[in-house]
Amino acid sequence: MRRENDKWIGRKINEWTIERSVSRKGEGIKWICRCSCGKVKEQKAWNVKSGKSRMCKACSGRLRRRGSEASFMREGEERTNGNKDNK
Ligand SMILES: [Zn+2]
Repeated sequence: MRRENDKWIGRKINEWTIERSVSRKGEGIKWICRCSCGKVKEQKAWNVKSGKSRMCKACSGRLRRRGSEASFMREGEERTNGNKDNK
């Protein structure tokens, strides 16, 4: 099902632009994604496709401070805990 994920390369989903896909044993497909702010992050393809991950942490923090989509962000945090690359 490689094609299924490759067809997303170059597309934009929410704030993420999909640059390329990577797959590692036991981790499933991940995407190298560039946020609209320019930050590049590796994300699980499923999280991006499903909308669990819509932007980088800096941008989601900005959104949360604005007070919108608070429930979504809480869910997103649970999904990405263990990720210490949070600037
Ligand atoms: Zn961003």
